[in-house]
Amino acid sequence: MTLVDYHVHTARCGHASGELKDYLQKAREAGLGEIGFADHLPMYFLPVEERDPGIAMAEEKLPDYVQEVMALKAEAEKMGGTVVRLGIEADYVPGHEEKLRQLLRSYPFDYVIGSVHFLDGWGFDNLHYLDGYERWDIDELYEYYFQRLMEAAGSGFFHIMAHPDLIKKFNFRPRRDMKELYRRVAKVFREAGVCAEVNTAGLRVPAKEIYPAYEFLVAFCEVGVPVTLGSDAHRPEDVGYAFEQALRLIKEAGYREIVTFRDGKKFAVRI
Ligand code: ZN
Ligand code: FE
Ligand code: FE
Ligand code: ZN
Repeated sequence: MTLVDYHVHTARCGHASGELKDYLQKAREAGLGEIGFADHLPMYFLPVEERDPGIAMAEEKLPDYVQEVMALKAEAEKMGGTVVRLGIEADYVPGHEEKLRQLLRSYPFDYVIGSVHFLDGWGFDNLHYLDGYERWDIDELYEYYFQRLMEAAGSGFFHIMAHPDLIKKFNFRPRRDMKELYRRVAKVFREAGVCAEVNTAGLRVPAKEIYPAYEFLVAFCEVGVPVTLGSDAHRPEDVGYAFEQALRLIKEAGYREIVTFRDGKKFAVRI
């Protein structure tokens, strides 16, 4: 059985470090079958002058990113062992679909990871904007976030939905029971044909819990939503972070396989 790490960033995003080859080296050491780079897509939903170079690469850097990953992919093929995939992590912001389509169709991505990091312009997963949580009733915020996530899943742009319960990042927890909402999200994912990402970055933030929560993962498994794996590494040493734990969680939730992607096509791998 060979695992994959499909959510790895590069220094181009302005908040990650390390050379691409160092990430590959870590993946090889960890015995991963595949490593997929998924750097943040340029902030296409904002006017150029408002884009934060510490959040995502500038638009003119996107071709270089693709080239660099493709070059490493070719090199990895020659070496044998861990395979390199070209992915991208793209925000879903309603109203900007045309621009998103234009950016995505220009490159041979193996997969596109869909994320919700912004709610009406508020970067809720950014430590600098923590005060935004004071403006919300926590249960309403969770409902609103998952609403956006369901829209993102249904948009047709994405193969994988990143860190499905990212809203728990700073450990602001809902008061109410989440089962029903988890089930609703899972059904929408199923109908949309997207896969859910099991992302170990949750262990490295105040939530101290893998994304998605165990109950959420069970809901995905019950309706037949496939899963894949990502560390969300922003430095080489986090490649494959806590994957044994993630794998245990995935199996415990009822899964017998994870999925991998090549040229936008999905493949199942027994675990
Ligand atoms: Zn990032
Ligand atoms: Fe993300
Ligand atoms: Fe990420
Ligand atoms: Zn991410």
